[in-house]
Amino acid sequence: TERTLVLIKPDGVERRYVGDILGRVERKGLDLVALKLLTVDREVAEKHYAEHAERPFFPDLIEFITSGPLVAAVLEGPRSIEAFRQIAGGTDPVAKATPGTIRADLALDGQKNLVHGSDSPESAAREIALWFPELG
Ligand code: ATP
Repeated sequence: TERTLVLIKPDGVERRYVGDILGRVERKGLDLVALKLLTVDREVAEKHYAEHAERPFFPDLIEFITSGPLVAAVLEGPRSIEAFRQIAGGTDPVAKATPGTIRADLALDGQKNLVHGSDSPESAAREIALWFPELG
């Protein structure tokens, strides 16, 4: 079993998809081990997306992710990292996400794509420590 860090980004909260998205997580069979609603500050947002610091969309991405309340969660289950990325769909909701996924079904925009999920065990460990220091 493994853990993954999931965000329901501010667009997901604003569009009232928290229940829908958490429902999909539950129906997939992943366990919720931690869950909170918060507005993230710049410092944590920049650490979270540090690997994108040099990308042209970085300032916009930080603006977006700090723009309002989001949901942060830790999920647990066998292959939870890959399992959540499967139900999320590819980054671009139109060009990459497969129908039936969160992004393909509910999003259009390449930035406001509703969710984040850790992409490796190393990222998951780093991101869980960043978003849930209280679990450490
Ligand atoms: P996430 O890390 O949020 O799960 P991802 O792993 O599918 O998404 P990354 O390539 O790591 O995608 O990009 C991180 C996030 O940055 C994307 O989810 C999206 O919100 C934003 N992003 C990525 N590429 C672009 C782009 N070309 N223009 C605007 N925003 C982008």
